[in-house]
Amino acid sequence: MKRCAIISLAILLALGFAGEAFAWGRLGHYTIAEIAERHLTPRAKAKIERYTHGTPLSAYAIFMDSVVKKPIYDTAFRGWHASIADADCKSPVEVRNRYRKGRDGVTAMNYWRKELANRQTLSDSTVLCGIKCIVHIVADFHCPAHVRYADCKNDGHQKVTFFGKKTKLHKVWDTALITRAHKGWTPKQYADYLDTWSKGKIKRCTRGDEQAWFESAARDVRPTIAWVGEGDALDDEFVKKALPLAELQMRKAAYRLATALNEIFGE
Ligand SMILES: [Zn+2]
Repeated sequence: MKRCAIISLAILLALGFAGEAFAWGRLGHYTIAEIAERHLTPRAKAKIERYTHGTPLSAYAIFMDSVVKKPIYDTAFRGWHASIADADCKSPVEVRNRYRKGRDGVTAMNYWRKELANRQTLSDSTVLCGIKCIVHIVADFHCPAHVRYADCKNDGHQKVTFFGKKTKLHKVWDTALITRAHKGWTPKQYADYLDTWSKGKIKRCTRGDEQAWFESAARDVRPTIAWVGEGDALDDEFVKKALPLAELQMRKAAYRLATALNEIFGE
């Protein structure tokens, strides 16, 4: 854990990222992790369990959000809750460095892939920290309010009402949309509902790496920039448009998360 917490501390202290609200909330994050767990290969699952001791991945799904008030973690993980694309929905390293100083989910995933490829040199607690981060990061960079573009401000800052309740658009994407649509559902129920893609469809969606995955999310999310203005009243009409997109991103996040873990731990 120590190594995880002190990553580039000196560099990070010089950066300033405003706190980024919690993508997907508890229900969304747990559901994504639950689906991913169902798609681990037996080999990857066994290797991961060496570090988790059988704790389900969903138990780690909001770890990165739960420690944001602890300065050392907040500093280590700063910026990892969102990612950045240019106007063409591309997210090469130059774009990530220019607009977020390399503090973004895609770069963080690259970092953990490299670290965990040499996990024999790491302590078990550092490997577990990497697993916890990956489970969270892949989910986050698929959440529409956490997909950012260099050419416009789309962090969901708009004040809106959601079925009459004052809130911000960001919070609607993060939690209100899915929790209202599936009130009372457990993550397992939600996972059963979402985890319906064929093997071929999953294979097509999981091609490439985190940069390609995020760029695909950026293309999917881009049209939403024009959907909502300051002061808009969001109701069923918004849900009808937004829920399918949110759930598309949740499925993609889940299958891609499983793919990343299978690649890292299934070799
Ligand atoms: Zn987050």
